Amino acid sequence: MAEKAGLIFYLQPIGRIDEKILRLTSQILAGAFGAETRVLPSVKIKKDFPETGSYDAYGLAQAVHGQLRPDSDGIVRGIILGITASGRFYSFDPKTGRYDGPLDGYAAINGAVAIITLATYYDYRDEAETKDLAESELGNLILHETGHIFGATHCGEYCLMRSNGSPLTRFILPKNRPREYCQSCAEKIQRNLQERTRYAAK
Ligand SMILES: [Zn+2]
Ligand SMILES: [Zn+2]
Repeated sequence: MAEKAGLIFYLQPIGRIDEKILRLTSQILAGAFGAETRVLPSVKIKKDFPETGSYDAYGLAQAVHGQLRPDSDGIVRGIILGITASGRFYSFDPKTGRYDGPLDGYAAINGAVAIITLATYYDYRDEAETKDLAESELGNLILHETGHIFGATHCGEYCLMRSNGSPLTRFILPKNRPREYCQSCAEKIQRNLQERTRYAAK
């Protein structure tokens, strides 16, 4: 029998990620969702656009999702969060036929996978300053993307699920988006989390 561990977040480092960032991410997820976090061994995933060092967000999310392994009873449980420090994300918009970006996060709504990149900070800020900024704002990014995993779409209120068009505004002007979900998003996320926690315990 599979061990009934409840809902587990798997952290999938893509390339090298600072231990401190991984620890902080686990703390953020535990604090917000009470979930256990397990760090998987780092993987290398080929960049879709080597000339700019970028990934196709959808393709990368699929590749990360593929790292989720079934339990001994054959059922795939859990949620996987891919995290990279090098590589920006671009997302193909079939409506315009163009790639949008760079994005600093991407998630399947009501799915099991999200990916985040810290590359944007490293591109725009000098290293020392970037490091602190990245760490202090990491929660905003992670909780936004996991909000999508738990079924929340973009929100028009002053809310963590508000869309930020440019990654720069998310970090340099974090006041654009508070660190909390509005009540309606919080309730939606909580309901989804409870359902999935029940399912994970089956
Ligand atoms: Zn979003
Ligand atoms: Zn909201």
